[in-house]
Amino acid sequence: MAYKITDECINCGACAAECPVSCISEGDGKYVIDADTCIACGACANVCPVGAPVAD
Ligand code: SF4
Ligand code: SF4
Repeated sequence: MAYKITDECINCGACAAECPVSCISEGDGKYVIDADTCIACGACANVCPVGAPVAD
């Protein structure tokens, strides 16, 4: 299981700074999560101002 970032993302970058396994990077118009590396800790969802990261 992994998290994914929905189109609600406003590109603030807060989640990438919090991810313990550094699997979030800036993508095309929004941030993206490498599902193979994500450990589903939920840290990104906790810091996101718009609730864009969701459990996939
Ligand atoms: Fe990183 Fe955790 Fe978010 Fe997965 S759930 S992208 S490991 S902060
Ligand atoms: Fe996008 Fe939320 Fe991450 Fe900011 S914290 S880059 S809005 S997913």
